[in-house]
Amino acid sequence: MEFNEINERDAAELGAIVAPQRISCGESSCALHSKDQSSHRAYVPGAVIWPLSAEEVAKIVSYACDRLMPVTAWGMGSSLEGNPIPVCGGIVLDFSMMNRVLAIRHEDFQADLEPGVIYQDLNETLRHQGLFFPPDPGARATIGGMIGNNASGSRTVRYGATRDHIMRLKVVLADGEIIEIGNRASKSSSGYDLVHIFVGSEGTLGIVVEATVKLTPIPAEFSAAVASFPSAEEAASAVFGIRRAGLDPVALEFLSPECMELVSREQGISIASGPAVFAEFAGPSASYLAETVVYAEEICRENGSLKYEAGIGRDRRDKLFRARHSLGEMIIRSHPDRKIMTTDVAVPISMFPSMIAFADAESRKTSLPRYLFSHAGDGNIHLVVLGRKDRESEIRTVEELNSRIVMKAIELGGTATGEHGVGIGKRIFMEREHGKSLEWMRRIKGLFDPKGILNPGKIFP
Ligand SMILES: Cc1cc2nc3c(=O)[nH]c(=O)nc-3n(C[C@H](O)[C@H](O)[C@H](O)COP(=O)(O)OP(=O)(O)OC[C@H]3O[C@@H](n4cnc5c(N)ncnc54)[C@H](O)[C@@H]3O)c2cc1C
Repeated sequence: MEFNEINERDAAELGAIVAPQRISCGESSCALHSKDQSSHRAYVPGAVIWPLSAEEVAKIVSYACDRLMPVTAWGMGSSLEGNPIPVCGGIVLDFSMMNRVLAIRHEDFQADLEPGVIYQDLNETLRHQGLFFPPDPGARATIGGMIGNNASGSRTVRYGATRDHIMRLKVVLADGEIIEIGNRASKSSSGYDLVHIFVGSEGTLGIVVEATVKLTPIPAEFSAAVASFPSAEEAASAVFGIRRAGLDPVALEFLSPECMELVSREQGISIASGPAVFAEFAGPSASYLAETVVYAEEICRENGSLKYEAGIGRDRRDKLFRARHSLGEMIIRSHPDRKIMTTDVAVPISMFPSMIAFADAESRKTSLPRYLFSHAGDGNIHLVVLGRKDRESEIRTVEELNSRIVMKAIELGGTATGEHGVGIGKRIFMEREHGKSLEWMRRIKGLFDPKGILNPGKIFP
């Protein structure tokens, strides 16, 4: 597809839709919106625009449609697969100024949000009402970006992913039309489920300008436990055992010895060495949780756990989990000269022990720095292997390893991406994962965006 570049006249006309101070074609604004947190190469857009309303977005997209210019939505740019990189240039719509909480209906457990709301800020606001929005990707992320990638995180095992928390959307389509999809009822059998076609579509079908999200009551009490094991496989069996026993953990995370070493070094703490499982539980009372952590210890010991440490209460939970929550950022910070490639496969939970053993064994074939960690409770595995940016052979090793792991996950009935999205990096696996149904995805894309202006170059190989 041949797109038009933004010229001075376009910039002036787009500036008249918003306000001259909310559009920039300047070098630094464009550079800041040329790459996300992945190692994919940067592409500089022609202009960055900061809209304030659905109507402004509609007018901008309608203009871009007429002039055949790409439009890429931008939340915080924290994606890990190049999802918001404007690979064909054009307009980047930055939603950081469209960040109002429009309504909180606590009696319905719902909130109406603009796309630029950051989920941590939302949870801070909701705390006083005893509610929260559960999906928790590790980075500061916007609701629009989380919807774009169907983000999830450590709490998915109990509460589900972003997809499970979106009830209604207001969307600007590729020709500038505004539609509302979904409703505010907690159940519905009414027609095709368009909401969930948009969730996870990475801004390729429409631009989200408002969302109604489901909220959840904050549990009364929390507890956490960390158990170390002689091997990754034994740790994975304990994860399966905890799920099987119906203990309903809030989070169930796996960390390899390399991750444990990094968090101990960076945070000056010593929790456990060797492969470890971090479990978080929540419930109505401390006595309920005291029983739960004892039961979880029995399961861990049966699976060979060498050390088990548990604590009841929010402070103890926070102390034990702080290490886990900052892991992603610690890895990025510790290796500035290396290319970060993260596998994000997910498999059925019964396949988790085989998948983690495979990823562990494959990663040990290289001497490059590597970190294996996992949202184990939902079978989602991240392996970060770091090659030096200027060593082609190291980068090739990392890519081949990534490829072997993705192929194995698909063979086990899983997926190339559990939560980061396809973006640029996982496009090559789409044919293999989806077979003939990829063609139906293409047709859906063609129906919603016939000119292909919305976030071009993503998802499809
Ligand atoms: C250290 C670190 C840890 C992370 N851990 C996790 C994790 O545990 N789980 C996880 O899921 N992710 C994780 N991520 C990835 C990332 O934070 C999430 O994918 C997040 O949802 C991206 O949100 P964002 O606001 O940065 O969106 P962006 O990266 O800006 O955009 C994401 C996608 O959504 C589209 N988009 C943005 N706004 C809109 C809109 N209004 N309408 C339509 N499309 C839109 C974009 O075009 C893009 O395709 C991590 C990232 C980092 C750096």
